[in-house]
Amino acid sequence: MKTLTVSVVTPDGPVMEDSFEMVSCKAEYGELGILPGHIPLVAPLSISAVRLKRGNDTERIAVSGGFLEVRPDKVTILAQSAEQPSDIDVERAEQSKTRAKQRLESKQSDIDFQRAELALKRAMNRLDITR
Ligand code: ATP
Repeated sequence: MKTLTVSVVTPDGPVMEDSFEMVSCKAEYGELGILPGHIPLVAPLSISAVRLKRGNDTERIAVSGGFLEVRPDKVTILAQSAEQPSDIDVERAEQSKTRAKQRLESKQSDIDFQRAELALKRAMNRLDITR
């Protein structure tokens, strides 16, 4: 089976680099499935799980937005943050989810709702890939 190299990088440094048969991810305009030999493209990523397939295994990485760069033999994911399930602190994500929900439900006028909504999405995305 043909493979492509997938490299995941964040502002804190590289998260992983390995070979996979297929990359599935959520661009801001919809789902993308990338196989070796894909035409080059750059796409903005939404807060979502990137799925990396090799044989019968699928690895998942939670990304919090950023960009995907595709070349025929390589996919580079430049993410704001990226975690593999084993790196996720579930307790922290649960607390972040509760905090964001409380902010969204509060009637205080000084709440930045968009910020709280994004924090909620990041927390739920992290929790999703640990399940
Ligand atoms: P929190 O409110 O818990 O800080 P956040 O969504 O605001 O969550 P980010 O700004 O997205 O956090 O991430 C900041 C850094 O912390 C990144 O390096 C990210 O990988 C890491 N991080 C955030 N939440 C978790 C978590 N639950 N487990 C492991 N690492 C996390």
